[in-house]
Amino acid sequence: QSSNATFPPVLDTNEQILTNSFDNTSISQWSYYYTHGNHVAGLNKTMAQWTADKFAEYGFTSRLDEYEVFLNYPVSHSLSLTYANGSTLSASLTEAVLAEDDTTSYPDSIGTFNGYSFSGNASAEYVYVGRGQQVDFKRLQALGVELEGKIALAKYGGPFRGLKVKNAQEHGMIGAVIFVDPGDDGNMTEANGVIPYPNGPARNPTSVQRGSVQFLSIYPGDPTTPGYVSKPGVLRADKSGSVPHIPSIPISWLDAQPILQALDGYGTNGTAVNRTKWIGGIPNVTYSTGQGSGARLSMSNIMNDTYNPIYDAIGILNGTNQDEVLVIGNHRDAWIVGGAADPNSGSAVLIELAKAFQALSKTGWKPLRTIVLASWDAEEYGLVGSTEWVEEYIPWLKTSAISYLNVDVAVAGPIPDFSATPDLHAIATDVMKKVIYPFHGDTSHTLYDVWQSISGGEFGVLGSGSDYTAFLHRGIASIDLGAGGGPDDPIYHYHSNYDSYHWMATFGDPGFHTHKAIGQYLTLLAYHLANDPVLPLEPADYAPALTSYLADLEDTISATSSNSTLDLTSLSTAISAFVDSATQFNTLRTLALSTNDAGLLAVVNHKARDFSRGFTSQGGLPGREFFQNLLFAPGLDTGYAPVTFPGVTESITFEGNFTLAGEFVGRTAKAVEVAAAILRT
Ligand code: GLU
Ligand code: CA
Ligand code: ZN
Ligand code: ZN
Repeated sequence: QSSNATFPPVLDTNEQILTNSFDNTSISQWSYYYTHGNHVAGLNKTMAQWTADKFAEYGFTSRLDEYEVFLNYPVSHSLSLTYANGSTLSASLTEAVLAEDDTTSYPDSIGTFNGYSFSGNASAEYVYVGRGQQVDFKRLQALGVELEGKIALAKYGGPFRGLKVKNAQEHGMIGAVIFVDPGDDGNMTEANGVIPYPNGPARNPTSVQRGSVQFLSIYPGDPTTPGYVSKPGVLRADKSGSVPHIPSIPISWLDAQPILQALDGYGTNGTAVNRTKWIGGIPNVTYSTGQGSGARLSMSNIMNDTYNPIYDAIGILNGTNQDEVLVIGNHRDAWIVGGAADPNSGSAVLIELAKAFQALSKTGWKPLRTIVLASWDAEEYGLVGSTEWVEEYIPWLKTSAISYLNVDVAVAGPIPDFSATPDLHAIATDVMKKVIYPFHGDTSHTLYDVWQSISGGEFGVLGSGSDYTAFLHRGIASIDLGAGGGPDDPIYHYHSNYDSYHWMATFGDPGFHTHKAIGQYLTLLAYHLANDPVLPLEPADYAPALTSYLADLEDTISATSSNSTLDLTSLSTAISAFVDSATQFNTLRTLALSTNDAGLLAVVNHKARDFSRGFTSQGGLPGREFFQNLLFAPGLDTGYAPVTFPGVTESITFEGNFTLAGEFVGRTAKAVEVAAAILRT
């Protein structure tokens, strides 16, 4: 149903204080601060301290948590194309410096490179590999394209970039070049006559997407300390399973154009390859595989590998119930001086949230539950700051965390986009009705209305790619929230110098009104989770989700060509047990609410806090111990996009191994039963 009937939303006094504290002007000041200095992981202690000081100014007890982690920084790189006739062309590997962005005054601006990339040179013929997913490589093999010893030329989009490099490496390729493609820019393209940034909203043709090439779907965090905290002097593991051993370089579409053109007329053209998203939008290119073109690439990528301290800024507001803890996090590090959307739209919102809670505290209010604010470092390299922090504090988090709220890119456009564990869906939806949300200048609707009509009104399933990952995989209820652009909104220059304050103030969110609305939403959501006497998590909302994951699994099984079958009875039995437990839980909760019995309230709240720990298994998923949640995980070959019942699903889709799948049916059923048992009364 629509909330139009109650527009403008009716708020209670505390909600009003929090909401009214939000000011788009001060948000723009925080954004300005964060977008004008060095952010790169391990090099941003000043911003970490500033953030901790802000938390303290607003009444939170603050500190810096320091870890010593593996990082690398660029020293030099080059890329040149040699045509079959021997003539050569060098790629620029730079983004045009724009006066609008003030980048000239910031010598710390870092080059266009891949975090955790391998230092080395490669010189060879090259092959266009589409988006570089395993299916793309399979298609190339079917077409008889030789991969061994060649360089991969891959398009951004789809899987996490590190997995493109991983797939290339596993096919014996010796280097990877990854380009941005305007074909992924919706209608906002120069090809459609749209003017590029800085004079218009289309992509600047020199923009490059930096980013980590860690093998995210294996484990996130510091590559040398899988599963344990990375402090000075700890034993360091071999990192070769989680970072590449071939060099890679990210490039702009302008640099990619001649490299692709040199393959035209050779091998199979893009249309005949016939793979999803194989053909992009670079003008005058056929996206051919290029077999036999005789053209070569020579690349060099030199990094300085080092161990550096990183700093998570932490702010704590103690609640009455200290065994119930809400964590709200955003990463602070960025590849670039700006980072106005990623992550500083979230960083600015987090500061404004702290300010709002101070306004409420001034009335004498104290939260029922403890609120922890976290400004993570080194997210960009592979969720490092948040993962190490969870690895350090896991005993406390396991027993106390009620939820983790993640805000990374709070605003890169006007369209709200939320992914969450099912137990958070109900409260996350209710709170949407309390926020006025500006949409393309129209301020006559709630966030709920816009989310229903524009975003389709459905929560996504969490995969990975941001700091909720370590929490989710220890069984902690999590949400990731923000707003992005649609096909007709200004192009967000992800991980490029053009993700600048100027871009945000001119195109992304002029006036910072969307920042304000997303911030109000996050704040009210935090308020209810931290303060409602009955913890507003809905375990029963896992029931329809589990049922639909089961249906998807059945579809996956019938889609395989194998004659093998898989008995899913134990899983459906466990889901039924979960449904029964949730019903019992609801009865007890109703009683707790009607009697207002403190002991009973504590019992139901602790069940709601704890039951999702049951969904985890110590051993994790096949070949990836870190990923303990058996309900959802980043896909092995997607990294970002989720897979549900991953132990079972991927044993089938990747291994065709029905024995392993059967084993994971058992483990997953067991996990659902454990969750049901925690909930049972
Ligand atoms: N959010 C960053 C990215 O997508 C980091 C993700 C990761 O390494 O897990 O590049
Ligand atoms: Ca670690
Ligand atoms: Zn980010
Ligand atoms: Zn990022």
